Amino acid sequence: MNTWETIIGLEIHAQLSTESKIFCGCSTRFGDEPNANTCPVCLGLPGALPVLNRRAVELGARAALALGLQINNESIFSRKNYFYPDLPKGYQISQYDKPFSANGTLEIMTAERDQAGHPVEWRAKTIAITRLHLEEDAGKNVHEGLPDVDRYSYIDLNRAGTPLAEIVTEPDFRSSWEAYDYVNHVRRALQWVGASEADMEKGNLRCEANVSVRRSGDETFGTKVELKNLNSVRFMQRAIEFEVTRQIGVLESGGSLQQETRLWDERAAETRVMRSKEEAHDYRYFPEPDLPPLVVTNELIERVRSAMPELPEARRRRFMDDYGLSFSDASQLTSERSLADYYEKTAKICQNPRAAANWIRSELLRELEAAGLGAGASPVAAENLGELIRLVEDGKISGKQGKEVLVEMFKSGKSAAAIVAEQGLAQVSDTGEIDAIIDAVIAANSEQAAQYRGGKETLFGFFVGQVMKASKGKANPKVVNERLKSKLQAS
Ligand SMILES: [Zn+2]
Repeated sequence: MNTWETIIGLEIHAQLSTESKIFCGCSTRFGDEPNANTCPVCLGLPGALPVLNRRAVELGARAALALGLQINNESIFSRKNYFYPDLPKGYQISQYDKPFSANGTLEIMTAERDQAGHPVEWRAKTIAITRLHLEEDAGKNVHEGLPDVDRYSYIDLNRAGTPLAEIVTEPDFRSSWEAYDYVNHVRRALQWVGASEADMEKGNLRCEANVSVRRSGDETFGTKVELKNLNSVRFMQRAIEFEVTRQIGVLESGGSLQQETRLWDERAAETRVMRSKEEAHDYRYFPEPDLPPLVVTNELIERVRSAMPELPEARRRRFMDDYGLSFSDASQLTSERSLADYYEKTAKICQNPRAAANWIRSELLRELEAAGLGAGASPVAAENLGELIRLVEDGKISGKQGKEVLVEMFKSGKSAAAIVAEQGLAQVSDTGEIDAIIDAVIAANSEQAAQYRGGKETLFGFFVGQVMKASKGKANPKVVNERLKSKLQAS
């Protein structure tokens, strides 16, 4: 029986988080009145000249450095020629033979998944990055929400000229989950250093996948299909999975594949043909005569590098080394920069890094997820969570009470100490007070005490229950257990 190998290459377009466009001063703000943010440059009027936005270069450098790529000291902008209504100049200013960054490698962590999509075991994988280059975005054709859309198409050029970083990989992925882990890695890296919001749902990170299959052992690649309209990382993973099954099905039934572009339809859970190879473009690239070569000095690169935060992988390693966290704990806590910051603050306040990790992973993240919030917007400040954890660790309240207090903190925004005082939750750990209760309980149940001493050890639970009841649930169970054991034996 034949087995099949999957080959995937990815292209990511990430919008760089500048306030103005890459070659003019127009705003990049999203959601403004159509065509409000336009000028002769981004409208492509004759005689208008582009001027490169320095901030776009700095953010492009951040993106490259966050992915561990080298930046070329000189790169060239080129014109990519094609006709489309949302491209008023008739060409897009991009980079071609001398890009901003080329021939890099990126190590990611990836995992096989079980049926439910949960990671089974993580391993490192190195992906070859063909290039990262800078370019301008096109405008948008609008087919909805305006009068006579059945007869007319509308064009909104607010997005035309928005700066993008395009990141292209070699065909190095062998499964849809590897592609999934890579896109998440890139997305987090770009967000982490502030290069891009990298939100696929908002369209400021777009992804295309080139997918083919071949029989195991074959040297040459099979016919590749380009997948578009992948509006989330999960959609992309599903689209690739569907496409691989489809391609294998065609080949095993003796058919052949077309080189084509297919769109993912999430509702129908299938890919559909968008265009075939005959319609593929010849872009006739040539150097942009209106822009000089882009020179990025080593000094600028170092300046950008030194202004960047500690990168996620370094932070994950430090969390494991310094705080003794497991790989999965450290990975989750570095999944977002705001969460990593939150964790470190909490750990510092409560002086117990492992407890902080447990509380955040099991309790706080559940509340945040239910409220649809990120750690940066948590109604419970890291300092307050740290204090709550300390109350529990010091035995002032029980772990169970702590969880209830956290839910209340989340709702009310009050501090842990305030809620504990208000609800009279403070746990009794004072041995004198607990001893007095135990003495009274033993005295009232002398018969059971004698049976216990005679070997009926199951009665211990009965005594714990009586003491907890007499303390109205406030006695520290750990102290009760210790004191009760010695008192029952001694009496
Ligand atoms: Zn403009």
